[in-house]
Amino acid sequence: MCSFRRIGALCVLLALLSALAGCGTQQTDTALPEEEAQKIEPKGKVYYAYFDTVSYVYDYAGDSAERFDERSAEVSHILSDYHQLFDIYHEYSGMVNLCTLNKNAGGEAMTVDPRLMDFLLYARELCELTGGEMNVMLGALLRPWHECREAAESDPSGASIPAEEDLIEAFRHTDIALLELDEDANTVRIADPLASLDVGALGKGYATEMAARWLESDGAQGYVLNIGGNIRCIGTRPDGSGWVTAVRNPDRSAEDFARRLRIADISCVTSGVYERYFTVNGVRYHHIIDKDTLYPAAYYDSLTVLCRDSGLADALSTALFCMPYEDSRALADSLEGVEVLWIFPDGEQRCTDGVWQMTENEA
Ligand code: ADP
Ligand code: MG
Repeated sequence: MCSFRRIGALCVLLALLSALAGCGTQQTDTALPEEEAQKIEPKGKVYYAYFDTVSYVYDYAGDSAERFDERSAEVSHILSDYHQLFDIYHEYSGMVNLCTLNKNAGGEAMTVDPRLMDFLLYARELCELTGGEMNVMLGALLRPWHECREAAESDPSGASIPAEEDLIEAFRHTDIALLELDEDANTVRIADPLASLDVGALGKGYATEMAARWLESDGAQGYVLNIGGNIRCIGTRPDGSGWVTAVRNPDRSAEDFARRLRIADISCVTSGVYERYFTVNGVRYHHIIDKDTLYPAAYYDSLTVLCRDSGLADALSTALFCMPYEDSRALADSLEGVEVLWIFPDGEQRCTDGVWQMTENEA
């Protein structure tokens, strides 16, 4: 479900993205003189149909209305395709999607769209890269948490958490090896009838990246995609500067920001405890599950990843969130072009050097 809280938070982020986007310093070869750049009116489109969230496409480059219509229509088309392929609740005619694969778990291998195969191969790679902390085969473990959250949303007074023995049993059906990918035959099989795919940690970012790459291949510059808070910048603003975005303070109201970052040609993705959660006996249970405890990860209140590939940023925002700081930091440091901001439950912030370079100001 797409909560209004979530939409509200995004609107603030966007307002900031638009309002503060004016004052840049970096210059590129293609930059327009500031006076000319300032005359360009940004254009935007919003879509509500994808990934249970709100998607925005912005053009800051001054494309004609026709060209912006064409480009945003193609972005919408790409998001729509991935939305359908990744849907675990509905099937669509003529398509094998994740819902079909989950229903067929334990059965025969099924032929899939090559785009789904590419995605699952990448998802498996990322699972390995993160030592299983971001695992798209966690479906069996995520489901009881998801059901408790939904039940709590409709009846907060009766809210409860899953039984520990159910979590332990569920975890036995989450090995990434249960996902059998045959690249040559282009088929997928889930080897255990009780196992299932859940790509909530990666799907949105991956689809964002596919849309961004299409825009890049079409020669677009000066575009920003914001797909449910998953931000991907294509190029720079016309004057060669970056856009300003803000990382929410996880502990306070949506008007309050922990840090402002100037970003260009990069993705910015945050995972936080404040987005989707429910409360039982005064304890908050959020939606990112640590495979090592089987409970919501407790190391940070929010974690932001900046890197070019939005799929990688999305996967890492979840994986690094589930790791103690030393391990999380070591993995971040081992990856080229990946910058991270960790915000701890007591409000302390730590970040990689690249984040300091992007920091516009601290709160
Ligand atoms: P959001 O989608 O809210 O931006 P994330 O990218 O962190 O946040 O993804 C959270 C979603 O990913 C959860 O709702 C759940 O579907 C799934 N998920 C939660 N924990 C994990 C995990 N450890 N590995 C893989 N998927 C997870
Ligand atoms: Mg993620």
